[in-house]
Amino acid sequence: MNDIQRNAFLSELRRRCPELTIREKEPMSRHCSFRIGGECDAMLFPSTVEEIRAAAELLASAGEKPLVIGNGTNLLVTDAPLHRIVLRMGEPFSAARTEGESVSACAGITLAQLAVSAARAGLGGLEFAHGIPGTLGGAVGMNAGAYGGEMKDVVTSVTYLDDELCLRETGDADMSYRRSRFSDTGDIILSARLALHEDDPEAVRERMRTLLERRRASQPLELPSAGSTFKRPAGGYAAELIDRAGLKGYAVGGAQVSEKHAGFVVNRGGATFDDVMALIGHIREEVLRLTGIELETEVKIIR
Ligand SMILES: Cc1cc2nc3c(=O)[nH]c(=O)nc-3n(C[C@H](O)[C@H](O)[C@H](O)COP(=O)(O)OP(=O)(O)OC[C@H]3O[C@@H](n4cnc5c(N)ncnc54)[C@H](O)[C@@H]3O)c2cc1C
Repeated sequence: MNDIQRNAFLSELRRRCPELTIREKEPMSRHCSFRIGGECDAMLFPSTVEEIRAAAELLASAGEKPLVIGNGTNLLVTDAPLHRIVLRMGEPFSAARTEGESVSACAGITLAQLAVSAARAGLGGLEFAHGIPGTLGGAVGMNAGAYGGEMKDVVTSVTYLDDELCLRETGDADMSYRRSRFSDTGDIILSARLALHEDDPEAVRERMRTLLERRRASQPLELPSAGSTFKRPAGGYAAELIDRAGLKGYAVGGAQVSEKHAGFVVNRGGATFDDVMALIGHIREEVLRLTGIELETEVKIIR
């Protein structure tokens, strides 16, 4: 979209959705856990499905799709201006409802909120996800997982807006390691239903506490990052390969391979997009040279 098209899009969107919060030239760094990212053309903070649909429809007529984000905890965004309209799925989409052992929740709820509310309702099965800092939408889209659990173990159906802006529900999200059918489409995940199991609330809470302690002990949670930089290669762990390549602590500008966990690239202060990209490139080259294994990024790179 050029400037004229963008202004026309925004004024038509404001006309159609007077309550929609729109922030032009919003720094992506404010919405990404890496704390890196330049200004996007505009960020929309919808609170109704109608607002999402109106934005997507107007963008489609200009041949574009919105960049949908949740908590921005799996993103590395260019620090040059990002010529995209970003749709932030947040707090207004955080309702959750329990019916027996089934939980339905909107895409913007954080996994922490969802796991805590499940525990309160005496439901177990989501403990693994409690410490993953993303939203339900982001977690379903990439089949987030930890400590032997994955979203695909608990998600039974997903409601989304498809390319043609039809509201659809599927019981088959085709989830596998860090991907789903939503990974490569522009579909917008609105909500998901999860099957959990009855359990003692205190036992569920205790398991969540234990996993959080393990996370705190092993991961550099005190520094900005986007979690594991690379996917797990067949037959091994990226962190182990990076460690064996002697890269723990290796830095390019403000980006550094965490001293605590070699699988994390952290922003130790003032890291730029180029710093992180150069560091990722160096890690991939070194690991390939030493082991013959090609590491693939888990972090989504947006430019
Ligand atoms: C400290 C730390 C620890 C982490 N630990 C783990 C871990 O243990 N396991 C793990 O799997 N991940 C982990 N992550 C990565 C991240 O939290 C997960 O990938 C999470 O699922 C991303 O959710 P999000 O809402 O932040 O998505 P975002 O980062 O905002 O987006 C990620 C992708 O999902 C898409 N997306 C987001 N919301 C929607 C939606 N509603 N509809 C359609 N597409 C959408 C985006 O377009 C983007 O492609 C960690 C990250 C950090 C910073």
